[in-house]
Amino acid sequence: MTNVVALSSAQVLYPLGDDIGSVALIQHVGDDKMIVNSARVSFGGDNDAPLTERDEKLIKYLLREHHGSPFEHNLVTFKIVCPIFVDRQLVRHRVGVSKNEISGRYVELKERGYIPLEFRKQAKSNRQASVADDGTLDQEAASRVWSEAWRVAFDSYEKLLALGVTREQARGVLPLALYTESYYTFNVRSLLHFLELRDHPGAQFETQLFARAMAELAEPLFPATFRAWRDLHRGE
Ligand SMILES: Cc1cc2nc3c(=O)[nH]c(=O)nc-3n(C[C@H](O)[C@H](O)[C@H](O)COP(=O)(O)OP(=O)(O)OC[C@H]3O[C@@H](n4cnc5c(N)ncnc54)[C@H](O)[C@@H]3O)c2cc1C
Repeated sequence: MTNVVALSSAQVLYPLGDDIGSVALIQHVGDDKMIVNSARVSFGGDNDAPLTERDEKLIKYLLREHHGSPFEHNLVTFKIVCPIFVDRQLVRHRVGVSKNEISGRYVELKERGYIPLEFRKQAKSNRQASVADDGTLDQEAASRVWSEAWRVAFDSYEKLLALGVTREQARGVLPLALYTESYYTFNVRSLLHFLELRDHPGAQFETQLFARAMAELAEPLFPATFRAWRDLHRGE
């Protein structure tokens, strides 16, 4: 079962609370039944009947026992507009994920920079993680420093272009907060694996927000699979 959604009518979520960072559902392929059928084909048991309770139990069994291949026939394509530092984490997911990204060699990059609505502090327990401001961070000063750094960097990019420097070199002065945009297609196995790692308190906070938006858009497409997956993660 294929469902192709035109970009203009795509469902879009804005995980970072600005009107730039976004996850749009572009298309999906397959449904919960496809997972059941691709598992049951091994004994000739695939069928056209609506999803049953027995089918749902099979999905849960497949997830619990790590029989992953039946989940690979289903695909979800997102258009993701995210800061480069988030994209650098998304692109680490190598298996079952396809990506095409805007090229800063082809086009002049737009002035689109992420500015955190709230700055966080370094976590003490996890050297990679962050914690919410406990009121001791000077939010205004942090915002000012961030904006100044952005201004210098983007102005330098434009000046280099004006000097006649090629786009592929000029972009080298741009910061990690620059928004990039890509199409990402995950199969459902790789999507669930991604969500386990990135919708997790140990992951980069902004990446968690993107992961949650992706889950929110994908869950209604594969409701039985997500139900079983969430139950397993809750230990039920
Ligand atoms: C909280 C967090 C912190 C992180 N910190 C860092 C960091 O500091 N530095 C850093 O470099 N990365 C870091 N990463 C990235 C991490 O190491 C993985 O590259 C990333 O999460 C992708 O996971 P993956 O390899 O399981 O996914 P995929 O690349 O999609 O692979 C899926 C699965 O396929 C199998 N697989 C894939 N490739 C191979 C292979 N070559 N050989 C054998 N089996 C393979 C594995 O079972 C793997 O789990 C971090 C990730 C998280 C979630």
